[in-house]
Amino acid sequence: MLNVPSQAFPAPGSQQRVASQGRSKVPLKQGRSLMDWIRLTRSGKDLTGLKGRLIDVTEEELKTHNKKDDCWICIRGLVYNVSPYMEYHPGGEDELMRAAGADGTDLFNEVHRWVNYESMLKECLVGRMAMKPAVPKDCHEGKRVLNGMLPKSQVTDTLPKEGPSSPSYDWFQTESSVTIVIYTKQKNINLDSVVVDLQDDILRAELAVIKDHSYLIHIELSHEVQENFSVRAIENVGKVDIVLQKRENISWKCLGHPLEKHDSFIPKKDTGLYYRKCQLISKEDVTHDTRLFCLMLPPSTHLQVPVGQHVYLKLSVTGAEIVKPYTPVSESLLSDFKEPVLPPNKYIYFLIKIYPDGLFTPELDRLQIGDFVSVSSPEGNFKVSKLQDVEDLFLLAAGTGFTPMVNVLNYALTSMSSLRKVKLMFFNKTEDDIIWRCQLEKLALKDKRVDVEFVLSAPSSEWSGKQGHVSPALLSEFLQRSSENSRVFLCICGPTPFTDEGIRLLHDLNFSTDEIHGFTA
Ligand code: FAD
Ligand code: NAP
Repeated sequence: MLNVPSQAFPAPGSQQRVASQGRSKVPLKQGRSLMDWIRLTRSGKDLTGLKGRLIDVTEEELKTHNKKDDCWICIRGLVYNVSPYMEYHPGGEDELMRAAGADGTDLFNEVHRWVNYESMLKECLVGRMAMKPAVPKDCHEGKRVLNGMLPKSQVTDTLPKEGPSSPSYDWFQTESSVTIVIYTKQKNINLDSVVVDLQDDILRAELAVIKDHSYLIHIELSHEVQENFSVRAIENVGKVDIVLQKRENISWKCLGHPLEKHDSFIPKKDTGLYYRKCQLISKEDVTHDTRLFCLMLPPSTHLQVPVGQHVYLKLSVTGAEIVKPYTPVSESLLSDFKEPVLPPNKYIYFLIKIYPDGLFTPELDRLQIGDFVSVSSPEGNFKVSKLQDVEDLFLLAAGTGFTPMVNVLNYALTSMSSLRKVKLMFFNKTEDDIIWRCQLEKLALKDKRVDVEFVLSAPSSEWSGKQGHVSPALLSEFLQRSSENSRVFLCICGPTPFTDEGIRLLHDLNFSTDEIHGFTA
């Protein structure tokens, strides 16, 4: 990697030479204070010119970005486009230019070691310095051995021709642990972007990096590890760490042997659905035909279902494997409704309606506590980024089409600072069919941002609320914005004809495709 001789910085005549009273600073122009910089970094402006992508930067490429209006600097292995920061740099532009197109780590350490540059410059992150392929070392004869930096021969023909480049990985160890580091080359990676399973020392990690593509790590580890491991996502650097605990404190010569599709970046459809067996922990009646099922993930699985996504459940029904999609929900809508008895992230809850003449649900309903069901990794095309800056959120649900709304509603109330109103219109046949009616009513009472409207298609004579099917009249009355130009988003889910009809009516009411998400299979 490049290194600029450190004694050259700060230059002898530089304003950054430490004076007896400390380092001199260059007077900054109006509107170029630290607060102004922070404001700019939070504005959502693309400061790298790469539209959120992270790339591997070669030394040759770095050298070409050496001008004031195109200035990349490498600090501790990460490359930043500092051009937008030039005018905000307290030490002046000339000081920054001394490391233009080069590795400024030594310069930085000398002058700025205490500065939290990772946070200050996080929106300027271009990527990391490309690693040179290392020559693989064998630890078992005849087998390809992983050291984390092998050339990716199997990857090249499966990569998309355009778009983001393949993630890569590396690994390191301490006496007691082995850490696998995955460089996703994308920002906004979080803990629900990665699913990890460890079974009999076979490690499988799947990263949903971009729409429709997954990056896979699939390795038979060279030594035994403990079943518990931890996963960390370093969001702004696009890095995921999987920290394994060694069973024996011995030094590993290699990570293990590659298995099928290891280190490949491929369309999701080519990875197949991966299942792990989960144990039925509890089953609770919610309505006359709908139950809340709680399944426990194996201890050696890390899986968090992203908001609005579903999984597939698989059971053997009279010798045949039957698979159906279901949308996980939170345990309840009200955090203070029930004391959480179980630790988070190890349990998945489902609200499932049992159809007596159905193929799958009667079989599921027959399971005893302690029995196992296979659960797939998450799927689905809903992204919470669609909700960014939304002020009015409208949810239209019919029957169990309510399930994706549960986590969307929870997310909206806990994580959307822009939110003014969230309104749910919930269609059912009768009052007895309404899932979590009491919780919904309590939530609407407790939180002023929440409105709930029930609509029944086959109400009893006592019902004084709204009735009928989804219609222009019901929708136009319901879809009132909190202000004339408020930013809106609408989610809709239920029987397919309901969802299709709802979307058609929403278009008629002048909502755009970008403002609507229909949950379908
Ligand atoms: P099926 O065998 O599919 O039968 C269901 C009903 O349809 C029965 O009454 C049956 O008699 C009738 N039926 C079957 N075939 C026909 C036919 N040809 N003509 C007319 N009627 C027919 N459900 C939930 O309860 N909770 C969820 O969280 C959930 N999430 C889902 C997420 C997604 C993405 C999708 C697509 C569906 C989801 N579902 C959910 C529905 C679920 O996947 C199943 O479809 C449902 O549980 C029924 O399965 P089953 O095999 O028991 O019934
Ligand atoms: P349901 O009780 O049969 O119906 C709920 C309400 O929707 C009833 O008022 C019903 O009216 C109405 N409805 C049904 N078909 C309609 C149509 N064509 N136009 C307008 N209104 C209609 O529903 P359910 O048995 O719970 O079924 C829920 C559905 O949601 C399932 O098909 C399931 O697959 C789907 N789902 C999808 C997802 C997903 O993510 N894609 C998630 C969960 C559930 P009537 O009295 O006239 O029938």
